[in-house]
Amino acid sequence: MARIVKKFGGTSVGDVDRIRNVATRVAKAVADGHEVVVVLSAMSGTTNQLVEFCRAAAPLHDAREYDTVVAAGEQITIGLLSICLQEMGVPARSFLGWQVPIRTNDVHGAARIEEIDTKTLNECLAGGRVAVVAGFQGIADDGRITTLGRGGSDTSAVALAAALKADRCDIYTDVDGVYTTDPRIVPRARKLDKITYEEMLEMASLGAKVLQTRSVALAMKHGVRTQVLSSFEDKPGTLVVGEDEIVEQEVVSGIAYSRAEAKVTVVGLEDRPGQVSHLFAPLAAANINVDMIVQSASENGTSTDVTFTVPEDDLLRAVKVLESKKEELKYRDLVYNGNVVKVSVVGVGMRSHAGVASKMFDTLADKGINIQVISTSEIKVSVIIDAEYTELAVRALHSAYGLDAPVKA
Ligand code: ADP
Ligand code: ASP
Ligand code: MG
Repeated sequence: MARIVKKFGGTSVGDVDRIRNVATRVAKAVADGHEVVVVLSAMSGTTNQLVEFCRAAAPLHDAREYDTVVAAGEQITIGLLSICLQEMGVPARSFLGWQVPIRTNDVHGAARIEEIDTKTLNECLAGGRVAVVAGFQGIADDGRITTLGRGGSDTSAVALAAALKADRCDIYTDVDGVYTTDPRIVPRARKLDKITYEEMLEMASLGAKVLQTRSVALAMKHGVRTQVLSSFEDKPGTLVVGEDEIVEQEVVSGIAYSRAEAKVTVVGLEDRPGQVSHLFAPLAAANINVDMIVQSASENGTSTDVTFTVPEDDLLRAVKVLESKKEELKYRDLVYNGNVVKVSVVGVGMRSHAGVASKMFDTLADKGINIQVISTSEIKVSVIIDAEYTELAVRALHSAYGLDAPVKA
């Protein structure tokens, strides 16, 4: 007998028939003698709609009330799955985040799980029942509902697997594993049997939304055996593993992209010590994550331009913060653009191989794609380009690094 956490994403619970399909899978695992904790997302599209409602109510809204609204989708699916399981004769009950409880900090909209009290869930399992837990949500110390950021149900699942000392965490989704890039935009993407925690972490943080970044970090930290597999087909998925379990390592193992980026340029900033710090301190205070940063050479030694990226969702707030500091910072102009994409090549093999970045630049140049910002780390190279060229860039890079699957005869 194993203890398994099974997480099903939005498409997998998209309507009652699909929820019944999930119930069938869960019932099979129970019949095989396993203890099962299920973590669910909201029906596909629901969370987007709830986010839209908040925006329509007020573009800049109270994050605590945002969480109250967007956490609502998961309540529906966990109740429905419990009903379907009971209908099949499988004892089950639903749990909202606060009922477990899953305790988080109070960063509403992007909360981090701090502690999971396993007593109630353990009692549920000991009583021979399936525990069906709402993903994506928790409760802060002040009793308010929190959410873990978009895609957060993956993190709920891995965190529960770690807390409950589960034997594994199965993440069921609408693709049958992790691919060399998003199979929806590159039909010749290849499925990986295994990927290292490190590469998956990088791919996720660079936009491959198949797993939320934080879930991979938790899986790595606690050594949770995590696999990504299809909700709809019975076939092996992709196992996320330690580097020692990978026999042959490619130099580049995947290409990721993220459209959720925006670029801001502060033009004509006075060039003197402390200016950059004064520029970024208020953004940090507003909880806005700045990612790539470039400072141009100063014009006549008196002024400089600083370009950086922020999450697209935070662009409006970032611009507001900087406009309110215009007098103090003494910059000439503020230029911003949400219509950009970050494209990245990822691979642990880059540590020992040169030329990865220059191949990326050559490939994009061949396609006439202008690079606006570049950043590199040990195992990735990222560029910001015009969003219009997303597909073209990802496909060209996928071929250039030899990742395309062979054409089927
Ligand atoms: P769920 O609702 O099940 O959590 P998501 O939409 O969050 O599903 O994540 C699955 C999607 O991730 C896939 O449909 C696919 O388009 C996208 N994706 C992006 N990059 C990759 C990748 N490298 N491998 C697999 N899927 C990817
Ligand atoms: N329903 C949430 C979202 O759409 C959480 C998730 O799907 O993981 O972001
Ligand atoms: Mg997801």
